[in-house]
Amino acid sequence: MKKNSSRFCLYAFLLLAVSFSKAQSILPPVIDWHGKSESLIAKASDPWITTAEKTNFNSTPGYAETMDWFKKLTSASPLLKMVSIGKTVEGRTIYMIIASTEKIKTAVSLQKSGKPLFLAQAGIHSGEIDGKDAGMMLLRDIAMGNKKSLIDKVNFLFIPILNADGHERSSPYNRPNQRGPQNMGWRTNAQNLNLNRDYAKLDTREIRSVINVINEYNPSLYMDIHVTDGADYQYDITFGGLGKQGYSVNIGDWLENQFKPFVDKSLQDKGHIPGPLLNAFNERDFSEGNIIVTGGPRFSDSYGDLRHMPSILVENHSLKPYKQRVLGTYVLLESTLQFLAIQGKSIRKLTDMDKSFRADSLPMEWKVPQMKNRISIDSKTSEQNNLAPAPDSIRFLGIASTLQQSSVTHSGYVEWQGKPVSMNIANYLSTEAFQFVKRPKGYWVPAACEEVINRLALHGIQMTTIAQPREEKVSMYRINEYQFGNENGEAKPFEGRMQVNATTTAEMHTQLFPAGSVFISTDQPLGDLAMLLLEPSSKDSYFSWGFFNAVFQRTEYMEAYVIQPMAKKMLEDSPALQKEFEEKKAKDAKFANDPFAILTWFYSKTKYYDERYLLYPVGRAM
Ligand SMILES: [Zn+2]
Repeated sequence: MKKNSSRFCLYAFLLLAVSFSKAQSILPPVIDWHGKSESLIAKASDPWITTAEKTNFNSTPGYAETMDWFKKLTSASPLLKMVSIGKTVEGRTIYMIIASTEKIKTAVSLQKSGKPLFLAQAGIHSGEIDGKDAGMMLLRDIAMGNKKSLIDKVNFLFIPILNADGHERSSPYNRPNQRGPQNMGWRTNAQNLNLNRDYAKLDTREIRSVINVINEYNPSLYMDIHVTDGADYQYDITFGGLGKQGYSVNIGDWLENQFKPFVDKSLQDKGHIPGPLLNAFNERDFSEGNIIVTGGPRFSDSYGDLRHMPSILVENHSLKPYKQRVLGTYVLLESTLQFLAIQGKSIRKLTDMDKSFRADSLPMEWKVPQMKNRISIDSKTSEQNNLAPAPDSIRFLGIASTLQQSSVTHSGYVEWQGKPVSMNIANYLSTEAFQFVKRPKGYWVPAACEEVINRLALHGIQMTTIAQPREEKVSMYRINEYQFGNENGEAKPFEGRMQVNATTTAEMHTQLFPAGSVFISTDQPLGDLAMLLLEPSSKDSYFSWGFFNAVFQRTEYMEAYVIQPMAKKMLEDSPALQKEFEEKKAKDAKFANDPFAILTWFYSKTKYYDERYLLYPVGRAM
């Protein structure tokens, strides 16, 4: 039986390999790579050799095989512990490995140790799985090899597969722009939700699990490991923090000027080509420059920045061979541990500075100074061709390309030539903050907004729940114009939610908040996060994500036989109203010819009108 099944496995493997090589042959030419990091690969005789190493990085282990391997490794070493941090909707356990010389490996005791703590996660987009295979090798070398000293002064948390359900939707055809491994997981989770759009709204169990880990362990540095798509270039490992594009000035500076140069050097020493985060402005090649925009707290790196937690986004280059990418990720993880051992204290100090800073007003948006409007990462609309030149530029290690004319679409497309070229290119960064909102003392969220209150609490935002009803003088937003739909202006849901974009006017109210309502002070480390989650003009607020869509519903009305005579009497009683009515009709022909609109207008001027209609129910304490 065993023999037959292993023969079947071999056939399946060969079949997969053939279809995989067919799928991969459409990719641009590969540049042959060798580096010192190849010496990290375990010998064939090593009992702890990983599947990726065994298959010369053609294959990556499935969920069950990965977790079985980690169970064995962690039970064989007192330095490691494997814990569950949650379960997916399909019932898979999301595991985390704790690597520490502390005997008791709990959140409390790790914090007590005073050592810096590094949290790295792989497989948020599970087809981009380099981090998992790199982490397996590194943890093996820490536990069984000669890398134990890496955790002498640092505690290390590693999530090998965050999107465990997506990881098991495996196929050679999941990521057409990526060079290996041959079995790749799927981008979204089992609910077809993109986990890296869920950090603000918290719809998924996977991201809720990560937020719990962040709140319990309080990492000194958080790293989210991806593989990019897009244009070809020489860099294999690109990574960075938000720099000047965010809410943590001191952390941003440290990541850019201390952390990145150190890790870049380690990568170069081992034969890799580290680079900054890259995205071709014209989506084709880098001739018109690089553009990196702040995505907002729906993304891991922007979320981390907003809660003042040093956060690094890693984007390995999809066209580099899997072996090169995994080895580069190993070096990246290893040198991050080395750097934290040296700099742990100073990063804690800078983090505390950012956590205790309270800006008088906070921008809801960031844009590229040379551009008129904000552009979003998910939006395909850009202001191509009418962009002012960027004042700064970067030396860019590119790949030569030619423009081909398509016989299918009769449009131009880029063909990569596989030859290294270097050039200076414009570098556009969204460093200009705008749409500032004055920081309120705090927010009153009524008990009826139970779901939003629960999610704010999940983020770790401190709040006080009132046991008795309480009247408060607050500023509230009245909604004026509004539009449902995604940021491309299409009237369809995004990430399973009907978003809304609205303009508002602030009004003062004396509002009764029932028992169970909460007060959230903005004078707390997560005060900035609370603002971006509760201000309706923030694209990642619960309002914008559609959690308050019930306020768009008017539930009472007046029969015509009631409002008609009432309107007549209102006009007779008030010459001022008469004047306002005549002016409105003269200005607005559509209104003048719409009896229903006219009656609604009169209704809105009576005491019977629903005062809460189009009123955002969260109060701002000023
Ligand atoms: Zn990704």
